[in-house]
Amino acid sequence: MQWVAKKAQPLALLSIAAIAVLVGALAILSTESVTSESDQVTQADPVAISCFETTTATIRISLTAQCPSPLISLGGSALTESGTAIGEVIDMHPILAARFTAAQRAAALEGITLYITSGFRSYARQEVLFAEAIKKYGSETEAAKWVLPAHSSHHPQGLAIDVNYPRDPAGAKWLEDNGSRFGLCRVYANEWWHFEGVIAPGQSCPAMAENALVDLQ
Ligand SMILES: [Zn+2]
Repeated sequence: MQWVAKKAQPLALLSIAAIAVLVGALAILSTESVTSESDQVTQADPVAISCFETTTATIRISLTAQCPSPLISLGGSALTESGTAIGEVIDMHPILAARFTAAQRAAALEGITLYITSGFRSYARQEVLFAEAIKKYGSETEAAKWVLPAHSSHHPQGLAIDVNYPRDPAGAKWLEDNGSRFGLCRVYANEWWHFEGVIAPGQSCPAMAENALVDLQ
């Protein structure tokens, strides 16, 4: 046992030295990636945020936590929760609002009109809509394919917007095709009007769910 212990000690020291070298190399690599990829979004970099320049409708990446004035921050991650706990949210997530404003501006430059027809909804309002949907569709399950109950819907969380509903699907199609640049995605196959900020700007939108039942809790 003593022989083994004596032999093991230098090996352990060597391992520690090797790890130290490796950590040092990784540190250099990560520093280089930050400086050489300043104009790209890297998913691994939580600091990178997208900044929107309104006049030209272009997006620049900032590696600091803020966008230089007067650029508007579109954030750098998926919007999965809004402000405080569920139930205390009183308005649309500010980054979701900024993303829509940016997309609206870019669309306008291409002659497309985008407008929000329903954004934040109170719990009470959402429950009224759900009750109406149950009457219309005949059961809670059928209703929830179109209108979720308040505790499941992302509208009372300030994380969802309905765009151009019900009269202008063509405008919403522009947002479906171009929204990922701004971090906006259509999420339900049966609702062309419903968008959420489920990605970081510049990432690809996930495949759509068949309907809102996927979010029923
Ligand atoms: Zn909706």
